[in-house]
Amino acid sequence: MIDVLWKIPFFLLNRRFGWPRMLPVNITLSPTPRCNSRCLTCNIWMKRENELSISEWDRVFQSLGRAPFWFTVSGGEPFMFKDIVPLCQSLYKHCRPGIINIPTNSLMADIIPGKVEEICRSSPNAQVIINLSLDGVGANHDTIRGIPGNFKRFEENYRALRRLKCPNLTIGVHSVISRFNVDRAAELFDYAFGIEPDSYITEIAEQRVELDTVDLDITPSPDKYARAIDQLVERIKIRQFKGISKVTEAFRLEYYKLVKRILREGTQVIPCFAGWASAQIYASGEVWPCCIRADNLANLRDVNYDFRRIWFSPEADRVRASIRNKECHCPLANASYTNMLMHLPTLTRVIGKAATSPTFLSKYSFKPAPQTSVPHDAAPKKNKTHSISWLRNHTLKPKAPDYGRRIIDRYRLGMRAHGAIQGIRIITAPGSCSSCQSLAGKVYQPAETPLIPIKECTNPQGCRCAYSPLMSFEQTDSAAELVDKGTAVTITDFALPSMLGGVEARSAISKIP
Ligand code: SF4
Ligand code: SF4
Repeated sequence: MIDVLWKIPFFLLNRRFGWPRMLPVNITLSPTPRCNSRCLTCNIWMKRENELSISEWDRVFQSLGRAPFWFTVSGGEPFMFKDIVPLCQSLYKHCRPGIINIPTNSLMADIIPGKVEEICRSSPNAQVIINLSLDGVGANHDTIRGIPGNFKRFEENYRALRRLKCPNLTIGVHSVISRFNVDRAAELFDYAFGIEPDSYITEIAEQRVELDTVDLDITPSPDKYARAIDQLVERIKIRQFKGISKVTEAFRLEYYKLVKRILREGTQVIPCFAGWASAQIYASGEVWPCCIRADNLANLRDVNYDFRRIWFSPEADRVRASIRNKECHCPLANASYTNMLMHLPTLTRVIGKAATSPTFLSKYSFKPAPQTSVPHDAAPKKNKTHSISWLRNHTLKPKAPDYGRRIIDRYRLGMRAHGAIQGIRIITAPGSCSSCQSLAGKVYQPAETPLIPIKECTNPQGCRCAYSPLMSFEQTDSAAELVDKGTAVTITDFALPSMLGGVEARSAISKIP
């Protein structure tokens, strides 16, 4: 952690004046978008990319050198990337990070513990955090995740990981709080605390370009979220944390306060350092400041895998200016944790709380844990809604000639492998021409969907229409009711064992009545 703390003044200068130039300390990789879950809160599993190979990743890590302290190897489901172990070995060899964080849906519980053991053994000086996703208890988890038996796999995976003898392994549980589980949050928290993971974190379901969830109503209302988080905070406070755990819990509590404020105020409550201190590298080689905006700064394949050429480019500066001008806001946990480290009032407060811990004072380092941040500089209350409406505008840019075909193909695959997608809608931009407006709001099947850019579009800026999936939960009055009845689309009659082993189902799907 000391490796990061000394860089904070430089990042503050860098964000304000553009100097000195700094590489990010927190990098998220998504080596594959493929996933064997069918979550109601995520559509990334429909995407297919020309994924970077392990030798290409190796060159990327070489160009990053020792700058990153924290890697998150995300997805899709990261264990569906067959080279996940060599990937972690390569990033460890070149970058020597302090933390390697890997989330998983646990569906490949047969192979995950073995691979985790290999990663831990080959990264002896890094803390390896495996975060198991858990969005409900029993059948509720299966319904939200769209896979029967997922909860059972979670339990098997958790038990098998617990049996590993790896001193640098942290086993965490991670819950996404969405409109589908917010009313059952207490039950979820009780279960999660009951199994005593090394860390427990929650994150709010949000609209993301990466997950293809822009415009989807998955985020709980600010009031319901606040009530759920208050119940979580009560449980955290009851637990007697000692030593380093006091620090991590102080971070968490600050993060939850921050999320409530972002939802209420609709602005960056503390400055975001995505684009300076944190970044994401997508499966295809695109470099993004974060997965919410997913601005393509450039592709690593086009710059000989030299991350610096992208990070210090005029395009990256243009996107940074937008972030600095607060043209976006969100409660993304991964970025928020870095933001909190870069925010001195927050950092001071957390360290102050932790200073009573003798363990902290003697070790001068944090055990890796959750994300966080803190409220501070009384941000103007300019927006009372929780909707991330700025993000919708972000997607309404003029579309490339191949946009329509590419996205329709993705939704077609999604509908065949049936998640919760029922059809395709066209969303028009403000000021769209009458031809485009005449298509808005209708729901199409892939074969009949008009191609965007719309040929008849007369707007001088070009066709800025976009597609959005119609989800099964949008056709019900209440999301909670949907979960209660198990009416989410669910895979029933294909070879479930092969699915759990990582082979994708592409057909034979039906709904639970
Ligand atoms: S949220 Fe669900 S569908 Fe999306 S990557 Fe994670 S497990 Fe897969
Ligand atoms: S505020 Fe959110 S959307 Fe904006 S740059 Fe930061 S992480 Fe990305």
